[in-house]
Amino acid sequence: MPNFDFLAQPSLPRPDVTLPDAVRIAGEQFGLHGELKELGSQQDRNFLVDTGRERFVLKLANPVFSVDELHAQNAALAALSGSGVRIPEVVPALDGSDLVTVTVRGQSLHTRVLRYLDGEPLTGVARPTPEQLATLGSLAGRVAAGLAALDHPGLARTTQWDARIAGEVVALLIDHVANPAKRRALREATDAALTRLDPLRPRLRVQAVHGDVTDDNIVLGRPADGTDPAEAPGVIDFGDVASGWLVGELAATVASALHHVPEEPLAVLETIAAFAAEAPLDDADLAALWPLVVLRGAVLVVSGEQQVMIDTDNAYADQNRDHEWLAFDLARRLDADELETFIRWRLAATDSAESSVPAGRVVPLDSTAANLVDLSATSHSLDGGAWLDPSAERRALASEAAASGHALTRFGEHRLTRSTIDRRTASPTLALAVSLAVPDGTAVLAPFAGDLDEVAGSWRLRGPEADLWLDGLERPASAATVAAGDRLGRATVLTVQLSRLRGFRPPAFVTPQFPAAVWREISPDPSILFGLPLAAAEADSAAVLDRRDETFARVQEHYFTQPPLIERGWRHHLVDTQGQTYIDMVNNVTAVGHAHPRLVAAVRDQWALLNTNSRFHYEELARFTERLAGIAPAPLDTVFLVNSGSEAVDLALRLAQTHTARRTILAVTEAYHGWTLGADAVSSSIGDNPRARETRPDWVRLIASPHTFRGRHRGAGSAAAYLADLDADLADLDDAGTGIAGFIAEPVFGNAGGVMLPDGYLRGVYERIRARGGVCIADEVQVGYGRLGRYFWGSEQQGVVPDIITVAKAMGNGHPLGAVLTTRAIADSFAAEGSFFSSAGGSPVSARVGLTVLDIMRDERLQQNAEEVGGHLADRLRELGSRHPLIGAVHGLGLYLGVELVRDRTTLEPATAEAALICERMLAEGSVVQPTGDHKNVLKIKPPLCLTRESADRFADALDLVLATL
Ligand code: PMP
Repeated sequence: MPNFDFLAQPSLPRPDVTLPDAVRIAGEQFGLHGELKELGSQQDRNFLVDTGRERFVLKLANPVFSVDELHAQNAALAALSGSGVRIPEVVPALDGSDLVTVTVRGQSLHTRVLRYLDGEPLTGVARPTPEQLATLGSLAGRVAAGLAALDHPGLARTTQWDARIAGEVVALLIDHVANPAKRRALREATDAALTRLDPLRPRLRVQAVHGDVTDDNIVLGRPADGTDPAEAPGVIDFGDVASGWLVGELAATVASALHHVPEEPLAVLETIAAFAAEAPLDDADLAALWPLVVLRGAVLVVSGEQQVMIDTDNAYADQNRDHEWLAFDLARRLDADELETFIRWRLAATDSAESSVPAGRVVPLDSTAANLVDLSATSHSLDGGAWLDPSAERRALASEAAASGHALTRFGEHRLTRSTIDRRTASPTLALAVSLAVPDGTAVLAPFAGDLDEVAGSWRLRGPEADLWLDGLERPASAATVAAGDRLGRATVLTVQLSRLRGFRPPAFVTPQFPAAVWREISPDPSILFGLPLAAAEADSAAVLDRRDETFARVQEHYFTQPPLIERGWRHHLVDTQGQTYIDMVNNVTAVGHAHPRLVAAVRDQWALLNTNSRFHYEELARFTERLAGIAPAPLDTVFLVNSGSEAVDLALRLAQTHTARRTILAVTEAYHGWTLGADAVSSSIGDNPRARETRPDWVRLIASPHTFRGRHRGAGSAAAYLADLDADLADLDDAGTGIAGFIAEPVFGNAGGVMLPDGYLRGVYERIRARGGVCIADEVQVGYGRLGRYFWGSEQQGVVPDIITVAKAMGNGHPLGAVLTTRAIADSFAAEGSFFSSAGGSPVSARVGLTVLDIMRDERLQQNAEEVGGHLADRLRELGSRHPLIGAVHGLGLYLGVELVRDRTTLEPATAEAALICERMLAEGSVVQPTGDHKNVLKIKPPLCLTRESADRFADALDLVLATL
């Protein structure tokens, strides 16, 4: 029988062996009697045999494995005796042989017994110590060293764990992964890892390997007394012994350690260093290690999914799936260049990390006269989206150099020019290299003595303390030994990076995933080469948060537990001070997008002319109110201008009361209308104020919200039932002789997460209110102004024209602007209260902002975009709902959507904690989204109306992945 080849036979359910079978075999073949218990295994059957005095493992191998392969395992055990690694001892059968073949229900199974190795596996240790992580690596290293010379015909087998065929294994099994977002992540990571690995293949050493020295398969020694060999840490499960890459042995070990240290993945450097101390790694190994960790992670994930599918009651494979994904996910998110640098740095164990690099100057210029180029998130030279232009850095450097003849970039700056939008992982923005622009042909000098050579198109000067890497060196001197001050060539634009890691160039830009201080040790600040400080100041988000907490009222909460420090916006993207971008899915205020150049220019121009109050006479006011009256539904033709939604609602309520000379206002539960005394009075959202329902003033009458998803009556056809309830409420009011001033509601239930009102509901309510002389107010602050795509006003969707519309948010794109649109008659009735005046309401700047926003919306077809992209996003979200039971419903229209999360689709139990967790995870995925509603279980999706299809897809993909791995 030939040795096993996974690629020829990729499906390996465990052999069919029951506990009674095992009891019989242990007794008949090995003379072992006692208690038996099945142990987990991916493809074999293993049983613990406890005789009361001693413990053994009865192993029935999958019948696809040849006798040679099983003998090779025993040979590996023999090779390791005397290695200092505690290993299981082979227990002969009654007939004296190491291996017997038994028949179980027609299957011929090769069977062995090993002595059970006592001790704790690392699996159960939640937070391993650095020593334990080192023990893991050291065991793997000793096993690898001990097996180096082993030769056996049974080693020539191809298991799915063979790192050499990892790409094939992933391709073969990936369809077992049900979730498309997971599949995409697996494919992308596997491709990237293979691209790095392929050129290294010929250089990687092949030998006998254990293949599975992992957290599951090592037992930690009892720490009490390390001197007794019986107490030493040990290694079990030699079932995967085969020929393989030496570095593959380590990759399997590292992959198994990762999920134990999700917060500090660099802790696995201890494992790697301990391995290398036993089995030294060469240059190719160091380059291959991280890609192999990623591939091992991917193979574990696809194999686990496959095993669960073909072997449905394999609880062992099933239980492992979460941490297998976690390990893969951690490995793929870490930048391979960065990890390779850390691995090499750890193994180089340089002790001169603190010493400074003695150096002279790189260019014979007075750099103190140079201009420093600001490429940070707050640099105005990058405004207007200029940072997304690939030539932005070059142009910024050239323009600074044009001013002074000589310009330099900063070290340790998070460069906005390196930020990417719709990112899947962290962007490498932190500059470890600096660039300088100098007059044409300026000489480049050796700042210290060393050997100059060319490596992959860059020049390297190897000095006594550090390597200096140079890009852009023109007419370079030929490779040579040079003295300090010698001319190396000349330059116009030169990039310079120092490295204490000898022989390997650290990345010039790194992600903010690891502290900048760690990077500075490896790639030090080159300021000394120029004689001026180049280090960028580091923004400290946590410190700024502390300062905010010191003085800003704490009830004015912030998003997220550890919010990024966001200092720039562009279109529907936000950028933090580390140059990481986020898709802004919550900013319904910024309807035309962040930092819109037309709006910026309009505001600047108007401020330069005039800003004053509306008692003065200027044309901008007339233009804006004409425009608003023009978009208001007839017969609304009169405009009040204020500064916020709350003010607009407050004024609307006062208008209703003065117009009717009554006080009572009807409002629906779970609504939010603002913070002022009046707007707050009609707000009953317990998500915002848990005591809201009991504390409304006497002039407010709450009526049950017509919530079509979780209300008293459900579905689009529930209007009649809600109206019948309302009739009962109104009858009470009529009986008590309470006159009604008005009714206020959002026409799409924004605060509940974009829930559509039942068809015809507002028509019925408005008829009833108007029949009693009341005024109907539509609060369009959130859902109106084009956001719904198909409708400009939410009330259009309900087929009604309100008496008063309140509007704000989108109207000013973040500039404080609010308006009340009503009829001349209602507006005039306010005269009973004297005049109306709001100092900044309708100011020239505010009016100009309002007009410009409407111009942009028209010219950029943003309402249509809301319909198109919103429709696409809703389709994507509904498709997620078909696969993720947590999604109970997708509410809304256009770009006002809500993803309602429930634990149970029948009881609708709100998934509140899950919603909070999802929002935190989505932040890491590069999207800002927040929960809303009484139960804070609805993800509110109301991005700027310029949202692109790409960003909508990126958001949906990220949500898919987050839901799949919650
Ligand atoms: N009405 C509705 C429907 C709102 O959502 C809000 C704010 N979330 C307001 C009014 C109050 O607006 P502002 O925050 O501008 O005062």
